[in-house]
Amino acid sequence: MTISFDLTGKVALVTGANTGIGQAISLALAEAGADVAVAGRSEPTETLDLIEATGRKVVNIRADLGSVEPVQRVVEEALTGLGRLDVLVNNAGIIRRADLLDFSEEDWDAVTDTNLKSLFFLSQATARHMVERGSGKIINIASLLTFQGGIRVPSYAAAKSGVGGVTKAMANELAAKGVQVNAIAPGYIATNNTAALQADETRNRQIVERIPAGRWGRPEDIAGAAVFLASSASDYVTGHILAVDGGWLAR
Ligand code: NDP
Repeated sequence: MTISFDLTGKVALVTGANTGIGQAISLALAEAGADVAVAGRSEPTETLDLIEATGRKVVNIRADLGSVEPVQRVVEEALTGLGRLDVLVNNAGIIRRADLLDFSEEDWDAVTDTNLKSLFFLSQATARHMVERGSGKIINIASLLTFQGGIRVPSYAAAKSGVGGVTKAMANELAAKGVQVNAIAPGYIATNNTAALQADETRNRQIVERIPAGRWGRPEDIAGAAVFLASSASDYVTGHILAVDGGWLAR
């Protein structure tokens, strides 16, 4: 058997691909040969240009995944535009910070609806198609807070720990149908999401000192793991949560 990371002829759907980790993943999948559908709220102009420059096809689907309402349409538009779906990357996510005793129901619902509920129902809609074809890869973007509690982010910790649970639940039921479901748990990655932490000199120093690799992660560090989990090289890997964290959890 030849080990291959080649995604030529494959089609991927990536959520939240206009910036950060989602942009790096969608570009890396295109560079590995996949056509890519991107789904998100804002116009992903830069991502579309980057993917088009690889020579792969790209389909832009506008959808607010803060609710489950658009998930069926997102899958249908991806299938109409690109004909099939081999890979789903559930990357769209938000974080809300507040002291535990003041944490609002609105912040709870916004984070769990976007990061967990939509992730499950988009996976379900995609998995129906994948099961019919007998193959597919679902990759969920989790977090260090899949394993840890964090501070002032209870809904994010709950949602991301739920992402770990639902990854295993889906992997378990879909393994015999040829669909692998895994998660990537990014460590501290330099994106818009973490801009405030990077800008705070004291917090930034504390974070870098705590990371065994001695640096923030880059979106491309996550994209490398995503290409592996999207490729046939990972066909026997399922239900796994792969930390890409510069050694944070090893410490
Ligand atoms: P960004 O803020 O750069 O990216 C988040 C993406 O999610 C954006 O493209 C955003 O699109 C999209 N998104 C948010 N809400 C919605 C919505 N309601 N509907 C559709 N799309 C939405 O941050 P990152 O790249 O850092 O985050 C990507 C993922 O990685 C998230 O799931 C995050 O939790 C996770 N993560 C990040 C870490 C880090 O250190 N950066 C660490 C651990 C996990 P739009 O702008 O259009 O709303």
